[in-house]
Amino acid sequence: MKVCKKCHLLKSLDEFGNNKNRFDGKSTYCKECERMRGVEYRKKNPEKAKESSKNWRKNNPENYKKTIEKYLEKNPGYVFRTKTQTIQTK
Ligand SMILES: [Zn+2]
Repeated sequence: MKVCKKCHLLKSLDEFGNNKNRFDGKSTYCKECERMRGVEYRKKNPEKAKESSKNWRKNNPENYKKTIEKYLEKNPGYVFRTKTQTIQTK
């Protein structure tokens, strides 16, 4: 169990995202707060958020592909289009 630094609730470790930079390997904020933080950040900095996700895709092409594949697995029939490729589930 771990206390979230943001909502100060005691939650199980499953409720926390992984963070390799932390001594316990877990994020200081629970997943719910991390999610809210991301939403707020994108609301406040739409351009920066766009830019950073663009950079992330560029620096993590493999992870990006996996993310899309996971998404497509959950949403069969969805067509995913990027500038360079079109991915569609069978
Ligand atoms: Zn929290």
